[in-house]
Amino acid sequence: MSQSTKKHVVILGAGFGGLNAAKQLLKADCQVTLVDRNNHHLFQPLLYQVATAQLSTPDIAKSIRSTLPMNKNVNVLMDEVMGIELDKKSVQLASGNHLNYDYLIIGLGAVSGYFGNNHWAEHCIGLKSLEEAVRIRRRVLHAYEKAEVSNNPEEQKKLMTTVVVGGGPTGVEMSGSLIELARQVLKGAYHNIDPSKGRVILIEAAPKVLGTFADPLPQRALEALEELGVEVKLNSPVQNITANTVELKDETIHAENIIWAAGVQAPQITQTLGLPTSRGGQILVEKDCSLPNHPEAFAIGDIVSMKDAAGKPVPGVSPAAIQMGKHVAKLIQTELKLNKSAGEVKRPRFAYFDKGSMATIGRSKAIASFSIFKMTGIIAWLMWLFIHLLYLVGFKNKISVLLQWFYAYVNFQRGARIISGLTHKNQN
Ligand SMILES: Cc1cc2nc3c(=O)[nH]c(=O)nc-3n(C[C@H](O)[C@H](O)[C@H](O)COP(=O)(O)OP(=O)(O)OC[C@H]3O[C@@H](n4cnc5c(N)ncnc54)[C@H](O)[C@@H]3O)c2cc1C
Repeated sequence: MSQSTKKHVVILGAGFGGLNAAKQLLKADCQVTLVDRNNHHLFQPLLYQVATAQLSTPDIAKSIRSTLPMNKNVNVLMDEVMGIELDKKSVQLASGNHLNYDYLIIGLGAVSGYFGNNHWAEHCIGLKSLEEAVRIRRRVLHAYEKAEVSNNPEEQKKLMTTVVVGGGPTGVEMSGSLIELARQVLKGAYHNIDPSKGRVILIEAAPKVLGTFADPLPQRALEALEELGVEVKLNSPVQNITANTVELKDETIHAENIIWAAGVQAPQITQTLGLPTSRGGQILVEKDCSLPNHPEAFAIGDIVSMKDAAGKPVPGVSPAAIQMGKHVAKLIQTELKLNKSAGEVKRPRFAYFDKGSMATIGRSKAIASFSIFKMTGIIAWLMWLFIHLLYLVGFKNKISVLLQWFYAYVNFQRGARIISGLTHKNQN
C-alpha cells in the first residue's frame, strides 16, 4: 500500500453507509481506502424484484469504481475483511494485505439470522445478496418447469408451492410479487400445469404482518396480500425446517422453495472485537457512532445497535445507514481541518431523521407512513416507486428500472425470466 503523510481513513463496506461516508470524504484532506468483497454497491430494497424476474442484476447494482470519481483521494479495494485489530489500528484482508489506519469506519451490514437454528440455512434461501436473489429466481422458475414435465399431481403441488418465512417488509414484498408471478405472468404459459394454482404461503410468528407499521396499515397489508391470493399464517412460529418442509405447531407444509425473510444479525466479525454487542451481535456504539474506548473507529448502518435522542432504536434501514455514514465522515473532516486527534474535539451525537417507511404489496398496492400521515393503495404505491427510483444509484439504472416497470405495468409481463447455470446434476 502506498504511504502518504495524509491521515488514512479506511472504510469497510461500500453499502449505503460506507459509500456515503466515502462520497462525503472526497474533498477532505486525507487518503481514503474503501474495501468491499464485491465490486458493486447493491440496492437491497429491490432485490426481491430480481428474485421474482422483474429486474435484472445490473439494474440494482453499480460498480463502486464507476460511482466514485477517478483521481480523487479514494482508493477502492475489492477484498474481503478477515479481521480487525483495534489496538493495533489494523485491518486484515483475505488477499494477505494489512491496512493501517488513523480512522476506521465499519459498515459491513448484516447477514440472515436464524434465531440460533443455523442448520435451517441449508434448506432456505435468504435475500441479502445478488447471488441469493438470482438463486431464488432460478429455483422458482425451474420449479414450474419441473412441474410441467411431472405426471405426479402431489409432486406438482409441492413444486408449485413456495413458503416465505417472515412477515416484515421483505417477506411481504416477496410473497406479493411471487403470487403475481404465478397468477398474472406465468398463467397460460404451460400446457400441463396451471401456474395460477401455485401457492405462496407467508408465515409470521407475530399476530400481524408489518408489525413495525402503525395500525391500521398492517391490517390493510394483510387484506391486500389475501386479495392477491397469498395464504398468510399469523401467530405461527416455525418449529423446524428440513429439506422441502416447514413445520409449524400443528401443520407441516411441503414446498419446493423456502425463502427466509425472518431475521437478520450482525456478521461474525463483531464477536471478535472485544466490544459489547446486542443479542443480534450488533455493536453497541457510542452516541457519535464511535466504538467504546476507540474514538478513531466508528461503526455505521445495520452492523450497529443504537438509540436516538428519544430513546427509540434507530432502525436497520438505508436512510439510517446513509445518515450515519455522512455523520461520521463529517466528524472526521472537522478533526482533520482543526488538525486535532480523534476525539479531541467535542462531537455532536448522531441524530436520526426518520423520513417515514413504506412497503409495497403488489401492483398498485402499498402502504406508507410519514409521521402522522398514513397512506394505502395506488398513491402509496406511486410514492414507493418514486422514492426507490430517487435512491437507486446511477442514472442509467434509474432509466432502465423505470422502463421495465412501465413495460411490466402495461403488459403484465416480466423481463428477466431467463434462467441459466442449471445442469442435470446441479439443479440448485
Ligand atoms: C431484501 C431487503 C430489502 C430491504 N428493503 C429496504 C427498504 O425498502 N427500505 C430501506 O430503507 N431499507 C431496506 N433494506 C435495508 C437496507 O438495505 C439496509 O438497512 C442497508 O443496506 C444497510 O446499509 P449498510 O451500509 O449498513 O450495509 P449494506 O448496504 O448491507 O452494505 C454492507 C457492505 O459490506 C460488504 N461486506 C460485508 N462483509 C464484508 C467483508 N467481510 N469484507 C468485505 N466487504 C464486506 C457488502 O458486500 C456490502 O457491500 C432492505 C434490506 C434487504 C436485505
